[in-house]
Amino acid sequence: MIIYPIEKIRSDFPILNRMINKYPLTYLDSAASAQKPNIVIDSQTHYYRNEYAAVHRGIHTLSTESTNQMETVRLRIANFINASKEEIVFVKSTTEAINLIANSWGHNFINYGDNIIISEMEHHANIVPWQVLSKHKKIVLHYIPLTPNGTLDISRLSKLINHRTRLLSISHISNVLGTINPLTEIISIARKKSDTLILIDGAQGIVHQLVDVQKLDCDFYVFSGHKIYGPSGTGIMYGKKELLQKMPPWIVGGGIVRNVSLIQDATFIDSPWKFESGSPNISGIIGLGNAIEYINTIGIDKIYNYEDQLMRYAVDTLKKIPNIVLYGPSTRVGIIAFNLGIHHSYDIGMLLNQYGVAIRTGHHCAIPIMNYFKVPGMCRASLAMYTNKEDIDRLAHGLIKVEHLLNQ
Ligand code: PMP
Repeated sequence: MIIYPIEKIRSDFPILNRMINKYPLTYLDSAASAQKPNIVIDSQTHYYRNEYAAVHRGIHTLSTESTNQMETVRLRIANFINASKEEIVFVKSTTEAINLIANSWGHNFINYGDNIIISEMEHHANIVPWQVLSKHKKIVLHYIPLTPNGTLDISRLSKLINHRTRLLSISHISNVLGTINPLTEIISIARKKSDTLILIDGAQGIVHQLVDVQKLDCDFYVFSGHKIYGPSGTGIMYGKKELLQKMPPWIVGGGIVRNVSLIQDATFIDSPWKFESGSPNISGIIGLGNAIEYINTIGIDKIYNYEDQLMRYAVDTLKKIPNIVLYGPSTRVGIIAFNLGIHHSYDIGMLLNQYGVAIRTGHHCAIPIMNYFKVPGMCRASLAMYTNKEDIDRLAHGLIKVEHLLNQ
């Protein structure tokens, strides 16, 4: 039995008091975007009321304070994933981070004859940038296949990888199936066979598991702030220092140049700052720093253990619903995908909303997974640190009613 302050945590997330269609909100869509605790919400208002100014360029007090705050968050994020401050780049999302890598590293260090490996389980954000790059560079993109139980067929990796593999880019946790990929095993297979770079899409992984980029020995680890209880429009690209130093900036303009002349190429400042051209989302970054602080006060391990127990309860409860089909492996983290008989996921989601239950429906930006399971879409319920047993019970009761309604 774990001691976990669920009531205190729930009281820190004001939106959980909302009523939807006269029912208490049952928020089971945190994998799409998580709700925010007071400390995150309040820190942004406080910043605008008392401290706001443009960063990096000013000599005055407010500008210096703002810059210091941003750099403090960089250090906090670095500590959170066991990186160094120079390895943390602020971006706006996971999508932007992957596009940055594809456009900066990909365009400059990948050549005709090389190949890239991803998997059939990826979010579109970790497919499309590589498809575009492959077409542009005329290189081959390989996919580690999915298996019927929703895990990856890792045995195929050693067959796909060769000395021309430049990148292996893979998700930490599947945003559809909740599958946790065995990163240590995957990375060790890859490293044995080639000097490929390893990129981890941590959009879902960072939320549920302790991440130590040094232990993992990945080259890049990317995630979005809004899924980890921070503001939207924030994200992190971790990259090994030597790698970032070699990579040119992708988005260029103000804030990142050492010199600009009208006759010569611009010269840039050092990483990570050279990747942060333009005015950043300072209040968002400060909010993200507070989200990490909030997680740290509870402990990511405690959150993981709590969510793990709750997931077991959710699976046992949902399995009792007539005609339910669950997708994914028996060990899921934070996410459970299902369908109810032949009914379309949109109908189920819309009817559940009548009872205040918020789930995700459709293809979840992972159409290849839908094609693999031969369905147009799935329902997805996802857990967060504030989800409780009552949420799961309300989902189950809602599904029983929906099942009944749809079969009338
Ligand atoms: N990868 C995964 C695994 C995700 O779950 C998501 C968000 N659903 C993304 C990438 C893209 O994240 P964002 O929309 O914040 O860029």
